[in-house]
Amino acid sequence: MNMQIKTFTFNPFQENTYLIYDETGEAVIIDAGMFFEKEKNEMKQFVERNNLSLKRVINTHLHIDHQFGNKFLFDTYGLQPEGDEKDEFLLDAAQISAGMFGLKYHEQAQRLGRYIVDGEEIKFGNNSFVSLAVPGHSPGSMAFYNANESVVFTGDALFNGSIGRTDLPKGDYATLIKSIQEKLLTLPDNTVVYSGHGPTTTIGNEKQYNPFL
Ligand SMILES: [Zn+2]
Repeated sequence: MNMQIKTFTFNPFQENTYLIYDETGEAVIIDAGMFFEKEKNEMKQFVERNNLSLKRVINTHLHIDHQFGNKFLFDTYGLQPEGDEKDEFLLDAAQISAGMFGLKYHEQAQRLGRYIVDGEEIKFGNNSFVSLAVPGHSPGSMAFYNANESVVFTGDALFNGSIGRTDLPKGDYATLIKSIQEKLLTLPDNTVVYSGHGPTTTIGNEKQYNPFL
């Protein structure tokens, strides 16, 4: 059995939370976006039904919609979220940001338990990802790539037909374009792109049709 990818779309921002696992039963979550009780239960039930052992939760970045569920994962499974240190400042403003969108979010955002740096190997089961720093949408944005399976999880750096917004704190357009050009478009064309929002695409497709690139 190869790597299995389960996609959940969570919270009012329609954020994609990915649960990735293999034949060992070990699993990693990329961006825990569960916000409502029903979404937390959905994750819990999927994990139980498939006898998975959650090993890590890694963050493409720390905007609220991508980290809402980190506290739930810590409280329920003892998982410490991992991500780039440069995005940690976003956690300080998490409640204010949520309030601006009219969300009742009173929990203290879960702090990172470990920092991920560029080019790191992130292991689980018989698989692993390589972390790719792709700043621009946020300063600590990361993508996670697996060459064997030809998949890359790009967070909000690259979308099907679009790119991440750069008008949020410490966002930068030129930096984002550079990140995409140097770190993502250099991956093989057949690499499947799993974005933070919306449907999947491929690197080849984005190279050819993405109007921002
Ligand atoms: Zn974002």
